[in-house]
Amino acid sequence: MSDLVLVLNSGSSSIKYQLLHAVSAQVLASGIVEKIGESHGGRIVHEAGAAELEYEGAIPDHRAGLLRAFEMFRQSGLDLTTIGIGAVGHRVVHGGEVFWEPTLITDDVLRAIDELSVLAPLHNPANVVGIESTRELLPGVPEVAVFDTAFFHAMPDAAKTYAIDAKLAAAHGIRKYGFHGTSHQYVSEKAAEYLGRPAGELNQIVFHLGNGASASSIRGGVAIDTTMGMTPLEGLVMGTRPGDLDPGVTPYLMRAADLDVSQVEQLLNRGSGLKGMSGVNDFRELQQLIDGGDTQAKLAYYVYIHRLRRYLGAYLVQLGTVDAIVFTAGVGENSPAVRADALAGLQAMGIEIDPSRNETRAPGIRRISPESAPVTVLVVPTNEELAIARAAHELVGAH
Ligand code: ADP
Repeated sequence: MSDLVLVLNSGSSSIKYQLLHAVSAQVLASGIVEKIGESHGGRIVHEAGAAELEYEGAIPDHRAGLLRAFEMFRQSGLDLTTIGIGAVGHRVVHGGEVFWEPTLITDDVLRAIDELSVLAPLHNPANVVGIESTRELLPGVPEVAVFDTAFFHAMPDAAKTYAIDAKLAAAHGIRKYGFHGTSHQYVSEKAAEYLGRPAGELNQIVFHLGNGASASSIRGGVAIDTTMGMTPLEGLVMGTRPGDLDPGVTPYLMRAADLDVSQVEQLLNRGSGLKGMSGVNDFRELQQLIDGGDTQAKLAYYVYIHRLRRYLGAYLVQLGTVDAIVFTAGVGENSPAVRADALAGLQAMGIEIDPSRNETRAPGIRRISPESAPVTVLVVPTNEELAIARAAHELVGAH
């Protein structure tokens, strides 16, 4: 069976895609469709080997975006309908209580993913449209859903239960699910490989710090806690989301600032976090503002670090002993300052960073703690597309 997999990550107004070999990890093409459904700024950037193609113009919906992207595949010499794709792998954000393993997509599965949209109204509907589009454009190719919540399925009840009315919680599926699971699982397995030990023997704390950000506490390869919750709003400070917030703030804001539900949702998803505090959500821009003496940006940075350390402390206590602390995603992989500040002053707990290792840029996995430190601190580049491609390839091969 062909190990060529098309991986799609459909967001509310964007689709990221990659065509790659699941076994060798060789990427044939990748791209992003942006600003779907918006009147301005529609754009597709498609890369295939040395070729980079760009389209600018309105993209009315996901199907139209994918049709264009497929056309760009053809222009770059890759006809997706004839090239022999073995599977399409879809990142699906919310698997609820229904899905916790990569799942072959049937009509029933698609319906169930759609029904889970109540829990993830900003995410699952886009995943459904992405799946419907590829089913139509690539008929007969098996499709696999890989759920962002899956890795956190086995968290203990104490970690996943919210202290609210139990009947209401059960009736509406209100509990901590966690997200970014594919990344947390992938980097923790890579870290184990790097350390030459089975993941089942290691305790790890993983910080996935991208635009969205989350941390997880992993005992013997099983996630026992994570910062994101029923939605991706909980936990760490993120680019545009606040992370933990007194739940009383929401009703207060609705009354005091006269906001309705969708305005509050917009504020919490797009107008909070680093952006809310400093005006920018991109970490590089935040650093530029700080270098220029911007006090709000500086405060935003310290709030960000303070939150990271709060969870670091919590997870150290949960695990008792920690073998590895892992940083991944855009900020985690690229900001030595965040890594150094997150772990500063913890030598007494066996946690230390070697400043020159931390500052040295290098591709691939690298250790940034001194060789002698009891806790190994690693930078592990994440690769959710590869993890999804491998899961899809394995599942389709097994059928
Ligand atoms: P996502 O996949 O969640 O959109 P990424 O994992 O790509 O996000 O991370 C995006 C974040 O990483 C942005 O805030 C960006 O500024 C930050 N980032 C990327 N490169 C660097 C860098 N060299 N230094 C600091 N931050 C960086």
